[in-house]
Amino acid sequence: MKKHILIVGGGFAGINLIKSLKNDKRFKITLVDKNNYHFFPPLIYQVATSFIEASNISYPFRKLFSDNKNVKFHMGSLVKVIPEDKTIETDTGSLSYDYLVLAMGTESNFFGMENVRKCALPMKSIEEALYLRNHILLTLEEAARNKDINEAEKLQNIVIAGGGPTGVELAGMLAEMGRYIAKKEYPEIKLSFSSIYLIDALPTLLSPMSRLAQETAYEKLKELGVKILLNVSVKDYVDSKVILSDGKSIETETLIWTSGVIGREVHGLPEESTGKGRRLMVDAYNKVQGTANIYALGDLCLMISEEKYPKGHLQLAQVAIQQGKNMAANFQRIEDGKVLEPFRYNDKGSMAIISKYNAVVDLPKHSFKGFIAWLTWLFIHIIPLVGFGNKIQLAIDWFRLFITNNPSIRLILFPKRNTGNGQ
Ligand SMILES: Cc1cc2nc3c(=O)[nH]c(=O)nc-3n(C[C@H](O)[C@H](O)[C@H](O)COP(=O)(O)OP(=O)(O)OC[C@H]3O[C@@H](n4cnc5c(N)ncnc54)[C@H](O)[C@@H]3O)c2cc1C
Repeated sequence: MKKHILIVGGGFAGINLIKSLKNDKRFKITLVDKNNYHFFPPLIYQVATSFIEASNISYPFRKLFSDNKNVKFHMGSLVKVIPEDKTIETDTGSLSYDYLVLAMGTESNFFGMENVRKCALPMKSIEEALYLRNHILLTLEEAARNKDINEAEKLQNIVIAGGGPTGVELAGMLAEMGRYIAKKEYPEIKLSFSSIYLIDALPTLLSPMSRLAQETAYEKLKELGVKILLNVSVKDYVDSKVILSDGKSIETETLIWTSGVIGREVHGLPEESTGKGRRLMVDAYNKVQGTANIYALGDLCLMISEEKYPKGHLQLAQVAIQQGKNMAANFQRIEDGKVLEPFRYNDKGSMAIISKYNAVVDLPKHSFKGFIAWLTWLFIHIIPLVGFGNKIQLAIDWFRLFITNNPSIRLILFPKRNTGNGQ
């Protein structure tokens, strides 16, 4: 009897688990995902800023595994786990398992601020990135039409909450969009995104990175005209005003939220399974605490057993990829009757792009910045993209775009059905 492994979530963790097991005939694998495609989160800020197409960084699951007879895809969103029946319920049907692997990642955390949740613009998925792209382009059109200078200024204010890599990368790209594109194509607008605010509650940008990376990001973004506010947090967002913890406020129609994440909610597991940040508590083999045959991987899980990471691993792509691979090897060890290997994270470093030709790279023993760091960033972000065609297409697009400074995909598209009433 083949063992049925049910994997919920086809992100870095889920995909790498499947890739390592897809040729092992002892397993039958079903991937469940609410989308029909895998995507690459580190580059969605380039989709949001109209720099690249969503299809550059996404790939359909069915195509990805079309040559693997033991891998099936089920499109649906997890509703709950029923451990006693070894089944899960999704919004499109129930499925049973021998082993269940939960790898659904995280969602934006608004820290209980209801107005921020309702009105801020998160950027964690392709849909959110496309929504943000439309919002930015529509706001520019509105600013171009608006004769009232104060209103036009408010429309061009952009507030980014969160000074981690995503906030830094987004701020740099928006500043360059204002400099190279908005100035040329929107002659009615005088300011061209002159007021981009980047806000963080901590005393530094890129807090988990090296001092070199933090200072370089700060200086380069300042040079690009980004207004950086540190030691300040967002407290509310009312009547188009972002209220800050120091009592000040900023008028804007665009509050972009890159400030924090929380694990996706999983119903049906015992209370003891969930830990800090709503992450699922796992042992050194990624087995969820208080369950049998249920595992969690990647951003969704919290493993505190590794000595070097007593508070758990950072929620990074490499952690998810390595956990997916280790899990696959452990499933094979179970079948072979061998001793399981605990997960050990191999830290390969981190990096962030700040602006054109400028990035910062932290390797485990060495940090560097500038053009070489920028080339390294481009290379490292192409390698893990799924699909050879995507890698080539993105390399060509980047080459053309960085030289011309002028992507041509600034289309405001709202798919809708023609209702036949002439609208
Ligand atoms: C904007 C952004 C930029 C980032 N930049 C970097 C970076 O530069 N470097 C880095 O190392 N890390 C970066 N990260 C973090 C990195 O993307 C994550 O650590 C990594 O994606 C985690 O992988 P995962 O497989 O655990 O989850 P994810 O990649 O988030 O995948 C989760 C999958 O689960 C699916 N799913 C979610 N809910 C359900 C449900 N209810 N039912 C079914 N399916 C569901 C989703 O559709 C998705 O396919 C970034 C993240 C974001 C959002």
